[in-house]
Amino acid sequence: MPDFFVLFDNLKRTSVLSVLRFNRQTKPKRGSQMSQLNSILSLFEITDKNIIVKQISTKISPTGLHIHTINADLINDPIRCPHCGFKTLIKNGKHLSHIRLGTLNDGRYQLDLNKQRYLCRNCHETCGALTDIVQTNATFSNNIKQQVVILAKKSLPAKTIAEILAISNSSVQRILNSLSTQPYRIKKLPEHLCFDEFRSCHHLMSFNCCDAVTHQCVVMLPDRLSKHIIDYFESHFSLTERATVQSVVVDMNAAYASFIHQLFPNSVVIIDRFHIIQLAGRALDKERVH
Ligand SMILES: [Zn+2]
Repeated sequence: MPDFFVLFDNLKRTSVLSVLRFNRQTKPKRGSQMSQLNSILSLFEITDKNIIVKQISTKISPTGLHIHTINADLINDPIRCPHCGFKTLIKNGKHLSHIRLGTLNDGRYQLDLNKQRYLCRNCHETCGALTDIVQTNATFSNNIKQQVVILAKKSLPAKTIAEILAISNSSVQRILNSLSTQPYRIKKLPEHLCFDEFRSCHHLMSFNCCDAVTHQCVVMLPDRLSKHIIDYFESHFSLTERATVQSVVVDMNAAYASFIHQLFPNSVVIIDRFHIIQLAGRALDKERVH
């Protein structure tokens, strides 16, 4: 081979080697990059090691909200088929799930999770990789549901919770309804009822109704507004059920007497002895002091 070609060949080799060396020096290690990207999940208390973050992208919604999308893979290789128990699973594509994570620095974060799917060669059933950050077929992560409950316990209105977590008002209601148990509805109204009020939180007077015989609570309402009391009994009990009530014991609150016959057409209004004696005692005290 002539000297010129030997020199050219050597130059080509060194340039290729230098490019390889350059690439090796500048390209960050795959593991360290992944761990940096995965660290964002720890902000949302996601510690599932099967979730591998690939990239994070940001876009601005028409309302000016920053929407950060975390693109990740969920790879959780099950050894046996959950349907038949045989070790006959093969990879069968991926399923993309959109999971809402919550807000951070006024930006909304969502996780686009590619879940690995598997096909069983024995029973021909399919299954997928599992994670505990979200329930099956749910859009909201368990963390965001927990945040809704924590904020609701602070007596914040649903609209405010929705604004804080950048979710819709109806989603807040749906999450709360799914996590709360419906109050027990008594099948039959007692024949004798007692109405009274008591001072509850925020210096408000709440309404309490109980069975006059057994003293078991029938309902407790957050306020004592006539409208809400009428709404409760009319929406929970039919007229036939309400017609079975024979007496309602009340204090001297004139507002109750105005709608008791409307709610319970066959009832008699009885003023509680305690309140009559209390009134007489107070009047006597006032006159004595005077
Ligand atoms: Zn199977």
